[in-house]
Amino acid sequence: MTTLHNLGFPRIGHQRELKFALERYWRGEDSLEELESTAAGLRARHWELQQNAGLDLLPVNDFSLYDQVLDNSLLLGAIPRRFGDLGKHSHADAAFCIARGRDAEGNPVAAGEMTKWFDTNYHYIVPELRPGQRFRISSEKLFHEVSEARALGHEAVKPVLPGPLTWLWLAKAEEEEFDRLELLDSLVETYGGILQRLAALGVAWVQLDEPALALDLPGEWKQAYESAYSRLRAAPVKLLLATYFGPLQDNLHLAARLPVDGLHLDAVRAPGELPRLADHMPAYKILSAGIIDGRNIWRADLKKILATLAPLRQRLGDRLWLAPSCSLLHVPVDLASETGLDEELKSWLAFAVQKLDELALLKQCLRTGAEGCGELLAENIRAIESRRLSSRIHDPKVQQRLQTLSPDMAQRGSPYAQRRPSQISLPLFPTTTIGSFPQTAEIRRARRDYRLGRLDEAGYQRRMRDEIRAVVEIQETLGLDVLVHGEAERNDMVEYFGEQLQGFAFTRFGWVQSYGSRCVKPPILFGDVSRPAPMTVEWSRYAQSLTDKPMKGMLTGPVTLLNWSFLRDDQPRALTCRQLALALRDEVLDLERTGISVIQIDEAALREGLPLRKADWRNYLNWAVESFRITAGGVRDSTQIHTHMCYSEFNDIMAAIAAMDADVITIETSRSRMELLDAFRDFHYPAEIGPGVYDIHSANIPRTQDMLELLEKALERIPAERLWVNPDCGLKTRNWEEVKPALKNMVEAARRLRKQYAGKERMPD
Ligand code: GLN
Ligand code: ZN
Repeated sequence: MTTLHNLGFPRIGHQRELKFALERYWRGEDSLEELESTAAGLRARHWELQQNAGLDLLPVNDFSLYDQVLDNSLLLGAIPRRFGDLGKHSHADAAFCIARGRDAEGNPVAAGEMTKWFDTNYHYIVPELRPGQRFRISSEKLFHEVSEARALGHEAVKPVLPGPLTWLWLAKAEEEEFDRLELLDSLVETYGGILQRLAALGVAWVQLDEPALALDLPGEWKQAYESAYSRLRAAPVKLLLATYFGPLQDNLHLAARLPVDGLHLDAVRAPGELPRLADHMPAYKILSAGIIDGRNIWRADLKKILATLAPLRQRLGDRLWLAPSCSLLHVPVDLASETGLDEELKSWLAFAVQKLDELALLKQCLRTGAEGCGELLAENIRAIESRRLSSRIHDPKVQQRLQTLSPDMAQRGSPYAQRRPSQISLPLFPTTTIGSFPQTAEIRRARRDYRLGRLDEAGYQRRMRDEIRAVVEIQETLGLDVLVHGEAERNDMVEYFGEQLQGFAFTRFGWVQSYGSRCVKPPILFGDVSRPAPMTVEWSRYAQSLTDKPMKGMLTGPVTLLNWSFLRDDQPRALTCRQLALALRDEVLDLERTGISVIQIDEAALREGLPLRKADWRNYLNWAVESFRITAGGVRDSTQIHTHMCYSEFNDIMAAIAAMDADVITIETSRSRMELLDAFRDFHYPAEIGPGVYDIHSANIPRTQDMLELLEKALERIPAERLWVNPDCGLKTRNWEEVKPALKNMVEAARRLRKQYAGKERMPD
């Protein structure tokens, strides 16, 4: 019989129980026992649910109170020195110290760095290592959870751990750089000890997650895989090596050859490699086909999957296992509790719980043949057909419009240097902000009341206009040069646009963990995208009517809308992105028509959409940049286009950033002390740059002097006439007590700098 298993289940809870329990604990309202008991309740519920769905092996240790990579660092005793002796704390408290920046005594220290888990929107805490470090088993969490599952009567459990090489690959040096592979011996030895202990608990299978095998790996790392796994083969348990998030490509033979008992492949991202692996796998090995999409929310096309599996099943027999493509951490928990979607849309979707049912149905169909699994399969086929043919998805008008796309639509009238003189004139070192101002409790209440019908349209308009008037006045008093309307009407920079565009749907409970207790609720981009009506024009027009200063229009760009949504899987991403670009282009043109002469198109998520493999970057960047250019390309030379990005790693994508052809780019740099601007200098970036001069993530009020120093560093790399002065990012998470003095100091820094440069005219080159 086919074995069904799961790589991991979302731990946050279908009502985000874990989030609320964590936050109560952190506020000091709950005891650790209360938190642990909520956590144990979730684990028990999730195991039972998976058991009832018919899984043959249940994942254990996929649960985490904060992050599974951090848990693994604690398991291995890899704790950066600045945290002191965390050994005296519970696993949970030690994890919170690292994640939230407290040492063992409770003093503030730099928190562990957080970064994106491969190409997902989940963030892990980066392990930090030092030369000569020795590992040893330093946490009981893993073993406790195995015993806990056992005590609940779950015999067939499969502990899940980040594999040694992936964990090491994701780590960084605590201080001075060194070759992390030097630590491999001690690391593998400790993993060996862990596997021993799991065996002693009666565990038969252990899943080691090695998604790093979907990356471009240097030769030494490939060798390290061989040597590490040949040492681990001595362990008295069976190892399932889990790869996911992409094809193995040049690592395929390596992965197939490693002396483990089973190999899991992401068959959604690498369908072609499934039969290839079946050819290459030695006869003793299990091949686990990750056949249900763990990264997206669409119902699986079971008929198609069955056709793929049939020959494999014939060849491999019971050596073929079935699973989701990756951990289900990346999808919402349960469609059944969803109330925000209509029945038709729901019939096209599957969240974590439904994905397990799909697996079970596949198993049944494999056993009985398609005829034997009757109504459930028939229902699946009907849903797939109805989605394929639905007029809610396919809009002939949108498709016709795409046909009219021509290269000149992605092209501004003239190059930057020629169009600059016709744009607004500004003092040297113009000051601006990135868009949002503090989202006060009153603003959020007004939005909520409006949504719930407690505040009527007119009342809401009045509240938002009052807000706009107030922030315009504040900005004029502060002396900022290019103003913003403050984005009070926006709950979220993606949701706000998605809600007004055709083709998007929003869930009420479709939460996915982003980091720690934080969750996001990505929109579902299910159909052809169009813009029924202007989305931001009225707010911007009103804001501009209040001031003689230029008012920046503010839009979220196509690539960011794309990268922060669950996307339709029935057409290439590039095409979906182009549809978004055309819809936003109309908004840009409407803004221009209404008298807005500066328009910012935020692309916060452009970089994070980069494919895992370098070879795929060019293609992605081509269509991503093209989409941005389609959005911006229709305006007159005299309209100044800004873009904003929340990062500063531009070295390897500088050409693409320049190709976006924005007149001004504002970026995050304050935390890197402007050094990352080297990329702009070395590339001779042609247009204007606003490197953030203060960190909006911190509550500290930046001092004029500090910002001046940063600006001087920036001036070593950017010509004065192309340098803007602005914070790192939007200010919506801050309060006015912080924002006002911060901006006052920032404007003062610009003024002082202008004095130093007095006499020099602002001169576009
Ligand atoms: N305009 C947005 C804001 O100011 C940009 C946010 C972002 O880039 N993350 O909030
Ligand atoms: Zn930002």
